[in-house]
Amino acid sequence: MDFSTYKGIYVIGALVNGGIQKVTGELVGEARLLADELGETVHVVLVGGTLKDDPASLIPLGADKVYVLTHKLLSHYDGKAYQKVLASFLKDRKPDTIIFAATSFGRDLAPRLAAELVCGVTADVTELSADKEKRLVIWSRPAMDGNIMADIVSPLFRPQVGTVRPGIFKYPKADESRQGTVEEVPVTLDEEDLGTVLKSIIQGEKDENPVETAKVIVAGGRGFHSREEWEMVHELADLLGAAVGCSRPISELGWEPHSRQIGQTGKGVSPKVYFALGISGAMQHMCAVNADIVIAVNRDPKAPIMEMADYAVVADLKEFMPRLIEKLKTW
Ligand code: FAD
Repeated sequence: MDFSTYKGIYVIGALVNGGIQKVTGELVGEARLLADELGETVHVVLVGGTLKDDPASLIPLGADKVYVLTHKLLSHYDGKAYQKVLASFLKDRKPDTIIFAATSFGRDLAPRLAAELVCGVTADVTELSADKEKRLVIWSRPAMDGNIMADIVSPLFRPQVGTVRPGIFKYPKADESRQGTVEEVPVTLDEEDLGTVLKSIIQGEKDENPVETAKVIVAGGRGFHSREEWEMVHELADLLGAAVGCSRPISELGWEPHSRQIGQTGKGVSPKVYFALGISGAMQHMCAVNADIVIAVNRDPKAPIMEMADYAVVADLKEFMPRLIEKLKTW
């Protein structure tokens, strides 16, 4: 098949309250790496009600071109209206690849757009790479209940579309010498293009130290056997100024909200330091952890996490945690 007329890797970035989301930067960095491998260019499409941040700030992160599509009717996400605006913008451009963040925005909009462009979507991707020879993006994601990683490619159609988990890829370092351009694209839209009526917005509880942006995460798992023991995770996190994370059994017990669950069905994280305390290291958990340093504490030296960790401590948490906390308090 000849797809030579399809060009460019497009990152779609939602504007939330006029701001560029952190995940857009993460995706631009990854798109840059793919584009360099495939000899492509990186385009970012910012879509929303207004834009308060500087769109040119994405150029040092790897964008060649940033398009700004704003309209007052796009202030709140409306699938039908966003689909219309994006499809009419992208149809004639024939992108080779389109990357969305796997946020509620991207998860809703990517399939809508794919239906318009008559192509498929690879959802919830955790790794991206390129097959240079075949000029394909390789989208990798956990499959079969997370027991294997599946590499998904789209040799039969263009564009290649996927949603990528936020928080997994490192935020790229800015290269101020990079050149690029910003273009405002006029958007035509009226009330009839909206599919929903917004009645009110109810803000959920805000996590002061969310895992997805934390530099240090103290995460615990089933190695903690009671709620009292679990309190030690919070105590250690407070002493280190870290965010609290957990494995799925802990959020299922209701000891932590789901927003702190890390893994395939939770959040993706990329901290500098990740404490895995009483966590076995199941693939469904670790597929969402991209840490510079992993410190594991486990009483089982053969637990899979011990192989993955940079520092592995064989110890019982009941003894280890109080001693570590005491040490840090007097440090
Ligand atoms: P365990 O696997 O039970 O590990 C507990 C560890 O603690 C063991 O290694 C044990 O040696 C150690 N330990 C026990 N007592 C002590 C002690 N006193 N001192 C020191 N160490 C001790 N999981 C997630 O975390 N996130 C997800 O998003 C997620 N999504 C999933 C999606 C699917 C489709 C499926 C099928 C599963 C998913 N899971 C997810 C579950 C995952 O497969 C594992 O079951 C889970 O991660 C295990 O959690 P854990 O490590 O806390 O518990």
